[in-house]
Amino acid sequence: MSTVGGTPVPPARALRACALVVTVLASAPPARAEVPPFVTRATWVELHTPEYTLVTDASPAVRGDVRRLLRRFSRLLQATYPGTRTRTAEPTWVYLFREQAEMDRYRPQSFESAGAWYSTTERGNLLVLSGRTEGAQRSEVVLHEFVHLYVHANFDAAPAWLNEGLAQYYSTTLLTGNGAEVGMPDPNAFGLMGGLREPMTFDLLFAMNPDAEAYRQDNDLRNVFYAQSHVLVHMLLSSPARSAAFAAFLEKLRTGTRARLAFRASFPESTWNRLAAELRPYCRNIGAGTTRHVALASDTEEPATEQVLSAAEALTRLGELSLDLSKAQLPMAAEHFRAALALDPAMARAQVGLGVAEDMRGNAAEAERSYRLALKGTISDPWMPVSAGRGTMQRLRQAAQARAANDTLAAIVRQAHGRFRLGMDLDPDDFGGVVGSATTAMLLGVRPDTTLVRRLEQVAAITPGRPDVTAALAAFRKSQNVGTPPPAEVKADPLSLQNVLALAEADSATHAGHLTGQKRYDEARAMFARIRDRNPAGSQVHDMAELEIKRIDAKVRVDRAMDLLKNGKFAEAEKLVSPDYPWPDEPYFRDNVPLLRNAVRDAARNVSRVESEIERVNGLIRAGKVTEARAALTKLLATDLPEDVKSYLRKRIQTIDAAQKAK
Ligand SMILES: [Zn+2]
Repeated sequence: MSTVGGTPVPPARALRACALVVTVLASAPPARAEVPPFVTRATWVELHTPEYTLVTDASPAVRGDVRRLLRRFSRLLQATYPGTRTRTAEPTWVYLFREQAEMDRYRPQSFESAGAWYSTTERGNLLVLSGRTEGAQRSEVVLHEFVHLYVHANFDAAPAWLNEGLAQYYSTTLLTGNGAEVGMPDPNAFGLMGGLREPMTFDLLFAMNPDAEAYRQDNDLRNVFYAQSHVLVHMLLSSPARSAAFAAFLEKLRTGTRARLAFRASFPESTWNRLAAELRPYCRNIGAGTTRHVALASDTEEPATEQVLSAAEALTRLGELSLDLSKAQLPMAAEHFRAALALDPAMARAQVGLGVAEDMRGNAAEAERSYRLALKGTISDPWMPVSAGRGTMQRLRQAAQARAANDTLAAIVRQAHGRFRLGMDLDPDDFGGVVGSATTAMLLGVRPDTTLVRRLEQVAAITPGRPDVTAALAAFRKSQNVGTPPPAEVKADPLSLQNVLALAEADSATHAGHLTGQKRYDEARAMFARIRDRNPAGSQVHDMAELEIKRIDAKVRVDRAMDLLKNGKFAEAEKLVSPDYPWPDEPYFRDNVPLLRNAVRDAARNVSRVESEIERVNGLIRAGKVTEARAALTKLLATDLPEDVKSYLRKRIQTIDAAQKAK
């Protein structure tokens, strides 16, 4: 799972979710294994449109309203930025709950107070919404989250400020019968920015990843980040000239230019400070704000097939959602599938879901039992084999982490490959079947057939940001260029299997990021090195991995220098924080490395001052000037010194006092 999260909750503003941020404001809800009772009581409907599959227990009126919002908003985005997409290569699932309280049972434990959330998962996009969100307009949360999907579909390299800024900018849109009123300022964001003395610099904005360790605990900074992102996007869209430059920036981003470069082309770096300084007066002068009207032709609802779900089917759909939440919520997922099977023992989709849940919990034997039951007989739906393939890949990751033997790993990959291929045989366009077949073919060193390569290229063209797809394509192209004879199957190729963990994981970079967050630097570095090495130099993924390695090395250096400083090894510490080291050009290092360098120097100076002072005290004592020596020690004690030095000084004073008393 990647790019997910909930927004920090601004005062007097409704709860609303965001991508990219994980807010930990209160304690997480406890993971309860049981199925919430409302699931089997409510009436659930599943609705298929070309854009998404909607699973909902909301009323037909609310359902219709959400569909209208998604449709009209897609129109608006396409009209505003021609040539952009409002869907991705991955399928999209929209879960629309009747109530906020219902939705609260189905959000990742790490998110706090998210009124809605968006996430890219292995099976595709997940948009989880509530029909009734306390305090906020329904449209606000729906539009905000949909912008994150839109950004993922078009501007995958978008910096976090753009993603959140656009989401907030468009969340206030009022969609009417003949058009849209766009650009209503959010009073909280404008109030916060208007009163702020110092806006964040563009360097910090670009470096900001609210998920990153460096920023995670700083709620103030994050609130400013959200507010500034909103106001900045608002300001850049406020005049025709700027709005045209902004559109050019987005277009560059869409065609693969890196964020900073693309932004510079529209807004030269020499103007950045002026732009930042403009934000405060812009906020103060906005008044009640004006909106711009975008005309949109009226349209009718696109056809959709709609079916009422049985209780067992509803349990299965919500079990599938539970699989995408968090590890702690896996028992709950399994409970959903078991409850479904209790109602309908023949339901293959519940059976395969249970298998995946078992695989994710490390119970391979139980998982296989479920897959066998799910895959027996005639299967027509690719969902079953593809899900089993995904579960098998989970097992592969665990086996690789446990450093299983290569032939064990190879056997697991072969099994997964067979399942994905079966999915593709049933439906050559099945997204999971295509991506799974490609990934496993790459791991096994099997040359893919042309259908697979062509489908993969189509996926990459529509959604360029998927690392698993780009890695597989790069590997296939490489083997074609080299012109090696097609090996029928490379038996347990140790090289590719060594890479299994990183290669197989769609979320390997995210995983490595988590390792970094947990300070498991060696593992994270090794993982990023594998990602770097299997992607061609100059590619976005390669450069990303390289930068991450550079960051980790620098962070390790900083941590070591701090340890050395604590242990009084100043010369070594100073060497580590030398300005000659190629520090990543990022605010964290720009701010902290000089501070640390000064601290090391101050501490070294302090120690030598203390040493020479003690030297002098010793001289005074030798000369019999005990009172003077005591005074010098007392004075020294009052200065800022490490505790062990202070304790030494106290003991010296006590010794002097004891000697005086004895006299
Ligand atoms: Zn957001």
